[in-house]
Amino acid sequence: MGKKIEINMSAREKNDAAAKKNREIFNNRSLRVFNIISSPGSGKTSILEYAAEKLGSKLAVIVGDVFTTQDADRINKKGCVAVQVETGGGCHLNAEMVRDAYEQLDTKKTEILVIENVGNLVCPSTYDLGEDKKIAVISLPEGDEKPSKYPALFNRADAVIINKIDLAPFVDFNIERAESDCRKLNKDVRVIRTSVKTGEGMDSFIDYLEKR
Ligand code: MG
Ligand code: ZN
Repeated sequence: MGKKIEINMSAREKNDAAAKKNREIFNNRSLRVFNIISSPGSGKTSILEYAAEKLGSKLAVIVGDVFTTQDADRINKKGCVAVQVETGGGCHLNAEMVRDAYEQLDTKKTEILVIENVGNLVCPSTYDLGEDKKIAVISLPEGDEKPSKYPALFNRADAVIINKIDLAPFVDFNIERAESDCRKLNKDVRVIRTSVKTGEGMDSFIDYLEKR
């Protein structure tokens, strides 16, 4: 009787292996790949609708949500390819889900791939999807303490978008505090203040995606 060699990979090891494979595929295609992470309602999808209008077929989007395809539908309508991953309860995307979604996309013209993660400030930051850079989004109504409360995301984020900046007169959000907390965690972080409503900062965001 031969010896049975059991290869028992943990979920995390499996994800890391899948992420490495994704990264190879994306690098071979010279795609710039971003993983956008935030709590629900920060405006990720609205920001990507705006980007879809500006970038058109240069942009492709993979959207994660627990249920429904409504966010991918919104982005598709703005003129770029988008595909939805419904996790059916899962609170983050993993690298295999991203790979399956990527294979459903027509990426012939794609230069930039953005993955909109499931709205959640905790575990999405710890699952590598094969992206080049993570982007964190916080919005003014959420409160300025988010970077200090969720350092695992903010110390991994290459850029932080402070969104809904048009609400500054109506909410107690100390923008300087949020920015300085982000820089304490990552001194090289790029902070971009945005409003999809007024368009403020959106050119800087598009520029970041294109040139990073
Ligand atoms: Mg969304
Ligand atoms: Zn999770």
